[in-house]
Parts: sequence; structure tokens; C-alpha cells
Amino acid sequence: MIFDVMTLFPEMIEQACNYSILKRALDNNIISVNTVNPRDFTLDKHKKVDDTPYGGGAGMVLMAQPYVDAYNSIKQSEKSVTVMLSPQGEPFCDAIVNELSGYEQIIMLCGHYEGFDERIRDIIKPREISLGDFVLTGGELPALCVIDAVSRKIEGTLGKIESANDDSFADGLLEYPQYTKPREFMGLKVPEVLLNGNHKDIAEFRQKCRLERTKAKRPDLYKKYLENNNS
Ligand code: SAM
Repeated sequence: MIFDVMTLFPEMIEQACNYSILKRALDNNIISVNTVNPRDFTLDKHKKVDDTPYGGGAGMVLMAQPYVDAYNSIKQSEKSVTVMLSPQGEPFCDAIVNELSGYEQIIMLCGHYEGFDERIRDIIKPREISLGDFVLTGGELPALCVIDAVSRKIEGTLGKIESANDDSFADGLLEYPQYTKPREFMGLKVPEVLLNGNHKDIAEFRQKCRLERTKAKRPDLYKKYLENNNS
């Protein structure tokens, strides 16, 4: 999977990918992360990427020319998707992660300041994705979330031991509670069933917990799960 990230702050992306599982995936060539800085595509000597909004208003708007030229400089593979990180996009979720992980290349546009000149959307026609109903200072953190979540779904990123199959959302439910050593901590004991080695009992216990906690914590997901599994 190739991630091409258009950003005014490439170090934010490069440094954050340099740890733990993402770093291992990079080192093993399972993913690659490239950055393209629109500032390198400006035509004026001051390397200006933003200007005041027509019609007035606060803040600075990202100019179309550096973004469109930077975008056109990226070599696109046949199975490529372009994503604009934007609070106005579709809410990011596991279904979108699965969809994106089917591509060979994800090109991402990170905004900053007041956001993009609308003509960037008109010309590039990206899929807009939002991290949630709140406004961040820039698209770099959401882009990193996309890189991280999608990379986990690419074969080889997670070791067998870190498998994503039991994770929350994998089949519509939240994950069961997890415990590790010691058996007892501050008077709280690990449920006995997890200690007896009976795989059938453990699976039943975990499935019961998944249903109970999804119902309690995310009734919306629980309802959807019942609809999908009772038909
Ligand atoms: N003025 C814009 C608006 O109200 O829709 C918000 C601009 S925001 C301050 C600057 C940039 O941060 C955006 O262009 C986008 O790339 C990124 N951003 C902010 N909030 C985001 C969110 N919830 N999800 C994804 N990207 C976000």
C-alpha cells in the first residue's frame, strides 16, 4: 500500500510513522509513506500557499494552484483513491478502512488554516473523510489515523499474535474484556473461565461479554448487529 500525503508539515507524518508497528511495516516494505509539500509547487518567490478569503472573514485559505500542481506531480497507480481530510467529510469508520485497504495507493490532502479553496475540490474531486464532528488545526492527525488504521488491515503489517480478527468492529461488536498477569490485582480476579483452558467455554464467555458490552456501550452498533444477524 502506498500512502502519498500532501501536507505543509511533512515531518509530522514522517516522524509519526517511525514507531512500532508502522515502522516495522515500512521497514518490511508492506507500506510506503511519501510526502509532497504544496509549498514546493508555488510560483512566487515567497512560496505563498495561502491568502485571505474573498468576501472577507477570518483566517487564510489554501490556494488552488500549489495544491493542484502538487497533486498532478504524484504518479497515480491504477488502483488509486484520493482522500481529502475534512470535517465536512463522511465520518471515518471501520467499513471505510476496509474499503480503503482494497486500493494500492491512497493520496491524501491535508488542509490547514481555514481550509481549501473550493476549486481544489472541484478539480481534484476527492473523497472527503472526517475524523468526527469537531475541528482540528490540520489534516495531518486524521491522515495519520487513516495510515494507521488502513495499514493494520494490510496483510503482513500485524504479526499473527496481533491479529485484527477479534478487534472491535471486526464483525460489528466491541471486543471482549482482556486480562493478563497477575491472576489477581488489588482484589480483582481474572474470570475463572479464562484460566481453565476449555476453548469452547472461553469462546462462549467472550461472545457473551461482547454482546453485553456492545449493548451497554454502543446500543446503535448492537441494534445493527441484531438486524444483520437475525435475518
Ligand atoms: N474551515 C473549515 C471548516 O469549517 O470546514 C475547517 C478548516 S480546519 C481548521 C483545517 C484543516 O484541518 C481542514 O482543511 C482539514 O484538512 C483538517 N481537519 C480539521 N478537522 C478535521 C476533521 N474533523 N476531520 C478531518 N480533517 C479535519
